[in-house]
Amino acid sequence: MKERNKIKDLLQATQVDVDVHIKGWVRTKRGNKNIAFININDGSTIKNIQVVAEMASFDESLMKKITTGACVAVTGRLVESLGKGQTVEIQAHKIELYGEADPEKYPLQKKGHSLEFLREIAHLRFRTNTFGAVFRIRHALAYAIHKYFDEHGFVYLHTPIITGSDAEGAGEMFRVTTLDVNNPPRKDDGTIDFHEDFFGKETKLTVSGQLEAELGAMSLSEVYTFGPTFRAENSNTPRHLAEFWMIEPEMAFYDIHDNMDLAEDFVKYLVRYALENNADDLAFLQKMYDEDLIDRLRFILENTFVRATYTEAVTILEKSGQKFEFPVQWGADLQAEHERYLVEKHYKKPVILTDYPKNIKAFYMKQNDDGKTVRAMDVLFPRIGEIIGGSQREEDYQKLNVRIKELNLPEKDLWWYLETRKFGTAPHSGFGLGFERLVLFVTGMANIRDVIPFPRTPKNAEF
Ligand code: ATP
Ligand code: MN
Repeated sequence: MKERNKIKDLLQATQVDVDVHIKGWVRTKRGNKNIAFININDGSTIKNIQVVAEMASFDESLMKKITTGACVAVTGRLVESLGKGQTVEIQAHKIELYGEADPEKYPLQKKGHSLEFLREIAHLRFRTNTFGAVFRIRHALAYAIHKYFDEHGFVYLHTPIITGSDAEGAGEMFRVTTLDVNNPPRKDDGTIDFHEDFFGKETKLTVSGQLEAELGAMSLSEVYTFGPTFRAENSNTPRHLAEFWMIEPEMAFYDIHDNMDLAEDFVKYLVRYALENNADDLAFLQKMYDEDLIDRLRFILENTFVRATYTEAVTILEKSGQKFEFPVQWGADLQAEHERYLVEKHYKKPVILTDYPKNIKAFYMKQNDDGKTVRAMDVLFPRIGEIIGGSQREEDYQKLNVRIKELNLPEKDLWWYLETRKFGTAPHSGFGLGFERLVLFVTGMANIRDVIPFPRTPKNAEF
């Protein structure tokens, strides 16, 4: 294969008057009967490179087929550009057409489609500037996550996607089965006999890798998961997906304060990484969608996160005089509108709330001495509300066991989890960061469906 130059490298090139070879997709073409200016993008950067073609040097039928969306390879000379808007351009010597895109039929022939429309053509929306920017940033954040944990001595643990336990209680689960749905085997009492199912028991798609990550932390000390999780919650909101990716660090010997310190340092690192490595893409998204984007990212870096208790937050909200859609009351979960009020209006800083009522949090959270609250911590961001949910975990076997009984959780599914508290238990903590909530925040996009390549939401799994 002939060596291919990436457009990103050419646009930063310090040397001109060299032969180059690019491949990419035509974004625009303009010109006259003598000369054509073709803008080409190969995904390496949001910027296009301009190719200049003398019409006389090329086959007329070929030039006709070079339209928006077509895929081409161009060989030519990199020269300084005399035109406005670019420093270099390519003087084409040879153009090869890989694939044409009939202008009558190509859905992206014109610019300026709505994000809603682009969701309906998710197979083609990668070809827009917006989705190029979003998915380059998504990639950079995924890379930065692994980099951060590697630099801090965490072990990447792959936890199962199919689970036999539905005790996590984080949301409704999807069933995994190979039984014939039209004619499942039944027991004498008429209920379905899952002994005949693939795994010999009922299985579901996981809602979280946390419980398994905890097992790893009880030997490796610091671990993290980064994988897909599934929730069959029928919530059609701009912040919920049925399939989303979650990052879940789990650390032995961390108390809740260590946990908060890690969460703050971690998200700041990720935001800083994007600011340093995705400047062009962020500038584009700021211009097109969200004029406050970069300020909001800096706001995360420049502020120490406020730490307050749930109880303090409820008092603030009650005294705020604000009209909320959902009432505020000690014991009820906070809604995004409440979380955003605390961050954007009251503290004007990112906030970490701790010590939530035990009845609205999961069974595994460490119980406080007051008998009412647990050592939970939620990190709240502007625009998003909750971006991280975590806690110190209950390491005491007796207390955990009592809580499991109180909540009527299926003990038979949790015996392995409880054994970690029987053998060499240790204080430990962890949290879950919803990856798409992070990408949503960093890109400034408004809908979570626009930050994952193929969103899974109620009634939507086309692509
Ligand atoms: P929410 O109240 O927003 O539904 P949650 O309390 O159900 O969130 P957790 O179970 O604590 O969330 O999950 C940890 C993190 O995963 C959340 O902080 C959030 O960033 C993310 N998250 C949770 N549910 C979803 C979802 N359906 N789609 C995308 N991200 C999600
Ligand atoms: Mn939820």
